[in-house]
Amino acid sequence: MALLRQPLLALARSARVRELVTTSPVSSGVVRGYVPGETTQAVVGAAADLVDDGLKVTLDFLGEDTTDHARADATVEAYVEVLGQLSARGLARHVEVSVKLSAIGQALPRSERGDGHRVALENARTICRAARNAGTTVTLDMEDHTTTDSTLAILRDLRKDFPETGAVLQAYLHRTEADCRSLAHEGSRVRLCKGAYDEPEEVAYQSRLEVDTSYVRCLKTLLSGQGYPMIATHDPRMIEIACSLANRYGRDQGSYEFQMLYGVRPEEQRRLAASGESVRVYVPYGAEWYGYLMRRLAERPQNLSFFVRSLISKK
Ligand code: FAD
Repeated sequence: MALLRQPLLALARSARVRELVTTSPVSSGVVRGYVPGETTQAVVGAAADLVDDGLKVTLDFLGEDTTDHARADATVEAYVEVLGQLSARGLARHVEVSVKLSAIGQALPRSERGDGHRVALENARTICRAARNAGTTVTLDMEDHTTTDSTLAILRDLRKDFPETGAVLQAYLHRTEADCRSLAHEGSRVRLCKGAYDEPEEVAYQSRLEVDTSYVRCLKTLLSGQGYPMIATHDPRMIEIACSLANRYGRDQGSYEFQMLYGVRPEEQRRLAASGESVRVYVPYGAEWYGYLMRRLAERPQNLSFFVRSLISKK
């Protein structure tokens, strides 16, 4: 099954397959398992239900690899709108937002507004300001390794005005242990995940064992440091190790948090929350769900055979 990961992640970038999948009625059942809705209203409702269950939430307006300014600007507006709604409904204390910089211009060519890096920084600033006004925070998602330096540079710039801004580090990258050391300082919010993109062996560990051992080394650095670690995994072994490391380093519950994706191991999310841990659910929403869905299928190929068989039988 692991062999399927690479082709699936390649398909995530194919325009023809994207068209086939997004227009098929079969997709909607699988998509709904991972994406609760397309509109601001739907996602704020879903967030409110999770908060009622004792969970925290981070919202991701779907869209990535934006190739024009209009779409990048529309994404910024969507974030500003949802942040306004969160504030109006008194949810901002429990619900923050996650932002992919490629959705707000990081990959755009140079224009009168500057290069993609500059456009993404200015757009991210607008979202951080709206989040601050609403009473919540922003976390910058991490995408493929060609964007890591730009994303961490944007994080550094944003943190001068918005020190509450969070970052994501991916344990599969060779560089990440060092990045954890630089970001384990006081006030630093770091989400540690394994990593979801198809990365070459020059920059990333390829075997599950290597990725898992890197994850544990990074956990040690973050949990023994001064920052606020956000432990993003569904892996029962990583969760168990994180709990025992938190204990070893004298961390109280609430001085770190667990994070999981909407629709993945929901009973474990509630079990951890009931045991006193802070648990945040990552909730994507919007119409641009294709790339997100492909990465989730790549992580869980059991879902895939059902999905592909249904697609073929409809054509
Ligand atoms: P795995 O070893 O992949 O999975 C462990 C177990 O979890 C599996 O055996 C299965 O039972 C369950 N599981 C895992 N995935 C699924 C699934 N899709 N469907 C059903 N069951 C599943 N990656 C990035 O590259 N950048 C990011 O910014 C980013 N942000 C993330 C934010 C959050 C809150 C989370 C939870 C993940 C994020 N990821 C991100 C994805 C991450 O990198 C992994 O690809 C993903 O979480 C799977 O790894 P795992 O740690 O759950 O372990």
